[in-house]
Amino acid sequence: MFLKSIEIRGFKSFADKTKLDFRKGITAVVGPNGSGKSNISDAVRWVLGEQSARTLRGGKMDDVIFAGTQFRKPVGLAQVSLFLDNSDGGLPIEYSEVVVTRRIYRSGESEYLINNRQCRLKDIVGLFMDTGIGKEGYSLIGQGKIDAILNGKPEDRRALLEEASGIVKYKARKEESEKK
Ligand code: ATP
Ligand code: MG
Repeated sequence: MFLKSIEIRGFKSFADKTKLDFRKGITAVVGPNGSGKSNISDAVRWVLGEQSARTLRGGKMDDVIFAGTQFRKPVGLAQVSLFLDNSDGGLPIEYSEVVVTRRIYRSGESEYLINNRQCRLKDIVGLFMDTGIGKEGYSLIGQGKIDAILNGKPEDRRALLEEASGIVKYKARKEESEKK
């Protein structure tokens, strides 16, 4: 499974619909300071369900919506979609392409969609569980994250290994059934 492309519209500095295609192998994003490189990784984190505005380098969640510039009016909606190639069945869903979308309106209301069908945040979290891709997954290594892992508490390091070994979904199911 791999990330084929990302479509960003009205999110942070991406006022217009912007689609970035990724090939297999390594992609590097280069550009001057403030040109929006980190906004791309923020977009990925955000679709995967990031709830902390601070992690997204903002004060409140609707700060992710394009706020306008000297030349452009603000917009009312931010939307990001990840297009994933799932031909190897890495994601537990019967589609060879999976599109995960999140949108937010100025009212602060967030919507999540899997293949254009509305779903809950929980469904998105469930879809990526044990794949290393979730917002806390090891496939998104932010600035300072390596230090945090190396100097972190043993429990946090254990959580990372559990995700890598694919047992998080069983733990989650166990906790869920113990609640009932
Ligand atoms: P650096 O090389 O310094 O890390 P970068 O390429 O990672 O820079 P980003 O941090 O991704 O740059 O982008 C910052 C830019 O995004 C700033 O110019 C900021 O004004 C703009 N920006 C962030 N949020 C919004 C928003 N809601 N509306 C409009 N522009 C925004
Ligand atoms: Mg940056």
